[in-house]
Amino acid sequence: MTSPMPRPPRDPKPADESDGPVEANPQEIRLLLVEDNPGDAYAVETTLRNLSKPGYRVVRAQRLGEALMLARNDEFDIVLLDLSLPDSQGIEGVQEFARTTTGLPIVVLTGLEDDEVAVQALNHGAQDYLVKGEDNARVLRRAIRYAIERKRSDEHVERLATTDPLTGLANRTLFRDRLEHALSRAQREKSRVALLYLDLDRFKAVNDTFGHGAGDALLRIVSDRIRLAVRESDTVARIGGDEFTVILESLGEPTQAKPVATKIAEALALPYRIGENELYVTPSIGIAVYPDCAGDAESLVRNADGAMYAAKLQGRNGIQLFTMDMYAQSFRRLEMEGLLRRALDEDELYLAFQPRVRLSSRKIIGAEALLRWKSAEVGEVFPSAFIPIAEDTGLIVPIGEWVLRQSCVQAVKWQRRGERVVVAVNVSPRQFRQPGFVKQVADILSETGLPPGCLELEITESLLMTDVQGCEAMLRSLRDVGVCISVDDFGTGYSSLAYLKRFSLDALKIDRSFVSGICTDSGSAAIAHAICGLSRALGLEVIGEGIESEEQAARLAAEGCDIAQGFLFSPGLTAGPFSDLLEHGFRPVSHIALGTRVNAR
Ligand code: C2E
Ligand code: MG
Ligand code: MG
Repeated sequence: MTSPMPRPPRDPKPADESDGPVEANPQEIRLLLVEDNPGDAYAVETTLRNLSKPGYRVVRAQRLGEALMLARNDEFDIVLLDLSLPDSQGIEGVQEFARTTTGLPIVVLTGLEDDEVAVQALNHGAQDYLVKGEDNARVLRRAIRYAIERKRSDEHVERLATTDPLTGLANRTLFRDRLEHALSRAQREKSRVALLYLDLDRFKAVNDTFGHGAGDALLRIVSDRIRLAVRESDTVARIGGDEFTVILESLGEPTQAKPVATKIAEALALPYRIGENELYVTPSIGIAVYPDCAGDAESLVRNADGAMYAAKLQGRNGIQLFTMDMYAQSFRRLEMEGLLRRALDEDELYLAFQPRVRLSSRKIIGAEALLRWKSAEVGEVFPSAFIPIAEDTGLIVPIGEWVLRQSCVQAVKWQRRGERVVVAVNVSPRQFRQPGFVKQVADILSETGLPPGCLELEITESLLMTDVQGCEAMLRSLRDVGVCISVDDFGTGYSSLAYLKRFSLDALKIDRSFVSGICTDSGSAAIAHAICGLSRALGLEVIGEGIESEEQAARLAAEGCDIAQGFLFSPGLTAGPFSDLLEHGFRPVSHIALGTRVNAR
């Protein structure tokens, strides 16, 4: 935590009572005496003057208001506080002092009859009390010393309860407390508070690879860097393993928070030298601003967390400001999750088949099965909106099985009509990794009677690269079953070519983004060219996807790519219209598009 901590009181050395005049010395105790009665004040000051070491520098105030002002503007080690002042009576003064000058030990001065009040004062933040008239040198010195010590140990206990032992930052408890205070202050002062919610990308990998010692060392450096990137008065807290929060106060505009987040992100992106290793981590940061994004502490935390999650989804190392749109999205996400659970049972899912065409003959040789969901409540939902939810929740496993079975059933129907259509099914990473996937594929093939060579599984490039060994074995088993394997959206996922040749693959699908730029953008054209060359070198088929114009088709053909899909030929069609197409061949695209939804991502 970087907000001002009370200055630790210096160690008061035992006094030597025999000595002469008080000299300013670095160990002197700075004492604020709050006493309106000149006689009582004189008695205390004289007694203190006679205690030479450690020496006391006394500043006197006669009213509570004046004393509070002095305490705010100057540093004191202790306050001696009379409980009967012109502007305050009883423990009220103690309460005010304890509230506004946290960290300053308080010794109250009471009359002989005021035992009851003295006890109350102790309960409200005073460390000790002195009865006037009994404040001789020994008693006074003991009380001062005791109060300073007690305050110090109280603070130590409090620090233990409120700081994170690994980094010394505020812990979750202190963070919540500071946030509540910051919001009340902002409400009073009509200012803004920004909450930054920060999570380290791939921190788990550091722990797993280099051990927990390295992980801890990294977290300590991270916390130092965050601390240095913000103002002294901003609260930085560690609220979970690799989760940090920063409270930025007194903001004028919500936009003022982003530059701070950028500064933190830049500081954290620098290399970390830990032992022999140089490590790199980046943060994802979500920002929510009070009162713009939330009206209370709990919602502010939730929304900053939501924004952080959105930053992660958009690719790591991002900064995302919370928007009301995001709230709607998270709400929709929850709602959609419930609806999706029912979609299978309610028969709301169906398949569209996009023809796969041989460019040289324009004949349909296959179809990609694309999942569709028409929800009774919300209407048609795009796969890009619901597949990630199905993947996150694990619903993709039963849904994927359904897609696989339905696709095979349909392909068998076409086969019975004399049409050989290879059906390609998208397989999500979660589905692919589930135990028993190979057996499931084999069972569905034998159950439906589809020859294995008529089924193609489309997997993603990133799946291959995250678990090379696991995938290698899985692909070999699938190859044994006899199905074909293609890599979808190829070119977007940093494939290592060395690995690529180890896998049993049949085809690479050039990602739509490269096809769409093939005639207009030299970078896309170069990548498409490279993928075609690579496929040839590895003995794989190459499939162009997302072809929308004759020009693109011609360019692909010139690169040696003969198999293609795209709106130029047809969007995804339900089984009926697809069967018509098989029978009659292509009609003008606009005619087909009229009767079916054109699926744009
Ligand atoms: P994908 O596998 O790369 O599928 C191609 C997507 O591009 C489809 O979008 C398709 O409708 C669209 N598309 C095809 N030709 C063109 C074109 O010429 N221009 C344009 N603009 N778009 C074209 P869709 O159906 O929205 O599917 C999006 C993604 O959802 C798919 O990308 C695939 O990753 C995933 N998906 C679809 N069905 C399934 C499924 O059954 N299981 C799994 N796991 N994922 C699926
Ligand atoms: Mg696909
Ligand atoms: Mg694709």
